[in-house]
This record gives sequence, structure tokens and C-alpha cells, in this order.
Amino acid sequence: MKRVILFGAPGAGKGTQADIIEEKYSYIKISTGDLIRAEVGAKTQLGLQMKSIMEKGELVPDEIIIEILKNRLMEKDIEEANGYITDGYPRTRHQAEELSRMPVHSEVAIYLDIVDENVVVRRLLSRLTCTDPECGAIFNLEENPPKQAGKCDDCNSPLKQRADDNEETIRNRISVYKEQTRPVIDYYREKGCLHEIDASASIEDIFEQITRIVV
Ligand code: ADP
Repeated sequence: MKRVILFGAPGAGKGTQADIIEEKYSYIKISTGDLIRAEVGAKTQLGLQMKSIMEKGELVPDEIIIEILKNRLMEKDIEEANGYITDGYPRTRHQAEELSRMPVHSEVAIYLDIVDENVVVRRLLSRLTCTDPECGAIFNLEENPPKQAGKCDDCNSPLKQRADDNEETIRNRISVYKEQTRPVIDYYREKGCLHEIDASASIEDIFEQITRIVV
């Protein structure tokens, strides 16, 4: 079992790259953002609590997200897979430490770095996501537009802008990221499995770099 950890700024392209890795290498993508949105969509009590946190651009508390991740990792498809990619997890050092407690044969941590904050804001403001939670494909009006306006290329469902992709929430997500997620870089550097990629490059260029690391 291999583990690929994709982390970095919001809008760095983690979800887009994780989707490509999943398709090309048969790794299972685990997006904590998607897991939270599924819970929000199911309107459970936990979902409602997480909805307001997400809409403000804050982080869901560690103990909740760690529990959600552990439950996902216990599912049968993971046991049978070659490996898995985490997208958007870990976002704090504590989350990283907890992930390390789950044994794998090999592990790489890929940090997608964006220096220019305005690139992030522009990308997220032009992002569209498939409304079918089973699909969840990601498009971008500037970099990766859908073939037919407003429709998903993969499943034809309508596309929508995410509730947290508005400028105020995006700016807050960036500052939360700087304070809480950047320390995760040092954690993986110390562990000796960190790879850094400049995420302002194109989707294809970034994927090529990831391929060299993952294979
Ligand atoms: P992005 O990477 O574009 O910011 P995600 O879909 O990964 O989007 O996450 C959306 C939101 O879900 C985050 O802003 C946060 O509120 C919550 N979230 C996702 N993953 C985590 C995590 N590992 N820890 C805490 N909160 C999380």
C-alpha cells in the first residue's frame, strides 16, 4: 500500500491532480473536502455544524476530521487498492502526525506551492464543480473549461460554483492556510519524504512533475 499526500494552498490544484492520478494509476482519492460536503449534503447534525465552518473558510476541528478520515480508511476498497492519495489532508501538524500512525509501505508528500495569492483568488473565483457528489469533477472557466457551458463533461450534470468560492471566504482560507497548514511542510521535510512543486504551472506540467515522483 502506497500513500501519496497532496497538500498546499487552496486553489493550488490538489483536487484536479488527485483526479488525474486516480484515473491513471488506480489509486483511490480521498478528499476530506468532498467527505465533508457529502456530510453537509446529507444534512446530518455534524454536517450542519461543518457547513458553517466551511462557509467561513475555517478548518473543521482536528478531532472531527481525523475521525472522518480514519472511517474512510477502514473501508474495503482501500484495503484492496494499490494505494491512496489524500487531497486536502493534512491541514495541521496534528493531522499529519495522526496520518503517520496509519501504516503504509511507502509514502510521498507533495507540496503544491503558489507564491502569488492573486493567482489563487482568480483560480477559485473561476472554478466550477459538478453537482453530482458521486462525480465531483472540477473545471475552471479560464484553465480547464467544460466542453458545454454549465454541464459536466463526465456525467452531464449541472456545474455550480462552491459556496466557499467567494472572495471573502477565499481570503480567509488563504490566511488559515498560512497559519495552520504551512507547518505541515516542515513535518514532511523532517520525515524526509517532501517534494515541492510550483503550482502556478499548467495542469499538464504539474502532472508531469508528479508522475516523476509517484512512479
Ligand atoms: P480547497 O483546497 O479548495 O480549499 P477543500 O475542498 O479541500 O478545498 O476544503 C474545503 C473546506 O473543507 C476547507 O476550507 C475546510 O473548511 C474544510 N476541510 C477540508 N479538509 C480539511 C481538513 N483536513 N481539516 C480541516 N478542515 C478541512
